[in-house]
Amino acid sequence: MACLDAMGIPAWSRRTDRALPGAPCPLLAPAGVVAAPPVAGPADSPDEIGALSWEALEGRVSNCTRCALHAGRTRTVFGVGSRNADWLIIGEAPGAEEDRRGEPFVGRAGKLLDAMLAALGYQRNQVYIANVVKCRPPENRDPRPEEAASCAPYLDRQIELLAPRIILAVGRVAAQRLLASDSPVGRLRGRVHRYGTTDIPLVVTWHPAYLLRRPEAKADAWRDLVLAAHAAT
Ligand code: URA
Repeated sequence: MACLDAMGIPAWSRRTDRALPGAPCPLLAPAGVVAAPPVAGPADSPDEIGALSWEALEGRVSNCTRCALHAGRTRTVFGVGSRNADWLIIGEAPGAEEDRRGEPFVGRAGKLLDAMLAALGYQRNQVYIANVVKCRPPENRDPRPEEAASCAPYLDRQIELLAPRIILAVGRVAAQRLLASDSPVGRLRGRVHRYGTTDIPLVVTWHPAYLLRRPEAKADAWRDLVLAAHAAT
């Protein structure tokens, strides 16, 4: 918060209404009555994945063979952080260290992401961090469109379950996937988008790995974080 104070930007406060527009009200089921399971599509269809709980979703991802990336993984990288977080940070794909540890953003880029979050007053366990794809692409190449498409129902369900106040898409792969766009990051950052058909604000910024190569772009990234912080209120 000190950074925002220093820039003369007022701090924002949390709202308490967390439901997504159109989401069913969990309070409607009377106590002791088990709600009928949602009508699911065929096993492993996007509809069926879209009805899974956090735990079931994580289990499903850990056994996933929906695309070829599963063959090369050490561990799936589901996501980490608070499942009540206001902030959802979405990166591209696990790298070598993430594949070994099963946690997103734990390498050098992850350390920088942690520092960016700390500048906003957040620790890693106060936000939620996930990737477009849950398995490491070989040689750290970009995920292919078909790999991102195979993983899409998982990320979509994570977003639905979390119902974040703000999505921060870091880097081109996340930005283009979440905005269904082929524009470069430089054209997508600097403004507040909405995620899909929801009202969830989405801000795009440079990937921390890019910032490690181009430290002069950190000023842009800070502006994006401040924009996202305001959009989250
Ligand atoms: N880069 C990403 O986009 N995600 C990770 O988890 C690690 C590096």
